Amino acid sequence: MKYISTRGLAPALTFEEAMLTGLALDGGLYVPEYIPKVTKNQILSLQGLRYQEIAFKITKPFMGNAFEDDELHEIIEKAYADFSHISCAPLVELEANHFLLELFHGPTLAFKDFAMQLIGQLFQVALKRRGKRVTIIGATSGDTGSAAIEAFKGLDAVDVFILFPDGRVSDVQRRQMTTAKESNVHAIAVDGTFDDCQSRVKDMFNDHKFRNEVQLAGVNSINWARVLAQIVYYFSSAVSLGGPSRKVSFTVPTGNFGDIFAGYIAKEMGLPIDRLIVATNQNDILHRCLSGNGYHTTEVAASISPSMDIQISSNFERALFYAYALDANEIAKLMDQLKQNGGFDITNAALSALSQHYSSGMATEVETSSTIGRSLSRSAQLLCPHTAIGVKVANDFRDHAVPMITLATAHPAKFPAAVKNASDVNPSLPDRMSDLFDRSERISKVANDPGELKRFIKDRI
Ligand SMILES: *Cc1c(COP(=O)(O)O)cnc(C)c1O
Repeated sequence: MKYISTRGLAPALTFEEAMLTGLALDGGLYVPEYIPKVTKNQILSLQGLRYQEIAFKITKPFMGNAFEDDELHEIIEKAYADFSHISCAPLVELEANHFLLELFHGPTLAFKDFAMQLIGQLFQVALKRRGKRVTIIGATSGDTGSAAIEAFKGLDAVDVFILFPDGRVSDVQRRQMTTAKESNVHAIAVDGTFDDCQSRVKDMFNDHKFRNEVQLAGVNSINWARVLAQIVYYFSSAVSLGGPSRKVSFTVPTGNFGDIFAGYIAKEMGLPIDRLIVATNQNDILHRCLSGNGYHTTEVAASISPSMDIQISSNFERALFYAYALDANEIAKLMDQLKQNGGFDITNAALSALSQHYSSGMATEVETSSTIGRSLSRSAQLLCPHTAIGVKVANDFRDHAVPMITLATAHPAKFPAAVKNASDVNPSLPDRMSDLFDRSERISKVANDPGELKRFIKDRI
């Protein structure tokens, strides 16, 4: 199995190489050269298996011969050992035929742990085998950074630098990044927005001299291995609701388009999915685009769902690549227009290809808060603001014949101020991190400047 770039000009890589590289050398994103298919019987055979077993069966065909079966089993066991729920990704009923897929039982209480914990173990094995050391650099709107620091802290073959927008992440998110004691992890508060952080990371990847000097590796949601890990829970949840005999729909609170794109791959593999519904907050560029208004960036407005405060949705490039029938040349042109003019229009053919799989909707700040309040009073479920956006949009699309699964992307205690405001309930942190506010913090503030950031990193590896 080889991986090719969405922009067509970077060499094809193996799974392991694509994972260790992150962003392709031509600025594109890696996708598998073909999508492995699963038969109806293979899906049936997943019923009743442990999450870890499903993970093995779904991820293995994408990895070529990168890992022996025994090795991969062990990696997966370690990755999910620290989840506090026995089924890792439990489903709970919110209303008749509407389910929440709880993805917040990992060590940092957000769905990012599913991919990051797996990637941490995969990196460790791959780097050890190669006798190599890498520098991981990532941008975060809050949850990726804490998940990465948690997954990589203390590993000897990696240094980790996480850029986050100063003052734009919640206190819990910040503390999860800044209270790790291990000296190989660094949280950097950047004077700017999440998009600035993401641009600085892209700058560093596109500076090939720096990239080689520090052996740069990326674990942002552009990393294919992260998308891969997220495909698994689409299968585990659909199967527990009667798949493959019954279709299900998914609503996914979306920012960088990584999580929902994993759903698209699951569908292409053969999982019977009816609709994939993109739910955005007021930063609704994806909803506008999927509604036929082109992809045009505006200013990011800070919201109570900060992990979705995004205007440049990196993984959308992958969705476009498939919508443009794998025409890498066309994708390179669109991405160039995005860089030059802040946006682009898409062809009718591509829009209709996207509409075959995805629907979209948005929730305002007021709608998000009132959904938190209503879900608590009607269903006794306390939602995080991101999940509430999903629930609001899912309700706009309810077709009662098809079960709806809304992805619950974070634990409400990660966003206590917004949740308290909306529901009058102060969500408490799970026991495992009840002392978070007593731990001491280690933060470095760096300007939103490529030169300064590179110096900072070189001084510390
Ligand atoms: C990252 C994140 C999202 C958005 O996921 P994408 O893969 O970027 O679309 C939604 N909710 C929470 C809580 C997140 O951390």
